Amino acid sequence: MKIVTTIQEMQQQMKACRSQGKTVGFVPTMGYLHEGHITLLKEARKDNDVVVLSVFVNPLQFGPNEDFDRYPRDIARDEKMAKEAGVDILFYPSVEEMYPRPLSVQVIVKERVDVLCGKSRPGHFDGVATVLTKLFHIVMPTRAYFGMKDAQQVAVVDGLIRDFNFPIELVAVPTVREADGLAKSSRNVYLSPEERKEAPALYRALQKAQEAIKNGEREPAAIRDLVIDYIQTNTNGVIDYVEVYSYPELKPVAPLSGKIIIAIAVRFTNARLIDNITVDVESSY
Ligand code: AMP
Repeated sequence: MKIVTTIQEMQQQMKACRSQGKTVGFVPTMGYLHEGHITLLKEARKDNDVVVLSVFVNPLQFGPNEDFDRYPRDIARDEKMAKEAGVDILFYPSVEEMYPRPLSVQVIVKERVDVLCGKSRPGHFDGVATVLTKLFHIVMPTRAYFGMKDAQQVAVVDGLIRDFNFPIELVAVPTVREADGLAKSSRNVYLSPEERKEAPALYRALQKAQEAIKNGEREPAAIRDLVIDYIQTNTNGVIDYVEVYSYPELKPVAPLSGKIIIAIAVRFTNARLIDNITVDVESSY
């Protein structure tokens, strides 16, 4: 596995790959790898000649009061896990390498961001879209892999790829969970032991909602109430949002039909957790 820290070397490496006609699978991450990231890497390994992993905690996508400084980092561990997962190139640039001067152009996301995390984290998806535009240009992958754990991000990247004509296939990978249902996340390490015990209730609430749809419930408000009630009864977390929308458009839909997403964000003492479930309403019987 090659470790590359400069954009110039990365571009040279990728040019060499392309001239040999190799397909490239790209997995962008913020590091502190876990089984979720590894699953994305394995998918990329299956489909492509070359697998590129980027590890970059992107300051642009963190708000002023968010956890950029204390976001967990452990590049030695990431290197080891990446090697084991069959990564060919690990791109690990510094903030100065990626943003040597204030940006003169920034990507602003207009659709699919007035709800969910976009609403409670203003500017977050602009930061995501901007760094991905840079990374896509640097790596020029054949395919890019994203986790459905961040379903809104998948919807935004779908728009970015289409609108800016990136010749990249977007691959959305299902959420990887702990045995008790908690979605794997780098931020789970910030849960207290007590909160860690409560946290699987988030997924259970989503499963209850799915079950209710299966049993004929079509009112988004009823689904929302059910999820809120379950989380409030079973955790001490503070609900940031519980929303039900069409997916990937993220528009209100009542009565429920087509493909929908039930998405939640809950604040615990030192970690804000997100999770979601997508349901094909008509085929959920
Ligand atoms: P992050 O490092 O949190 O920015 O995540 C990098 C990529 O891994 C994103 O596409 C995430 O959606 C994906 N990812 C994170 N956690 C999971 C998970 N539990 N299951 C599947 N994909 C995940």
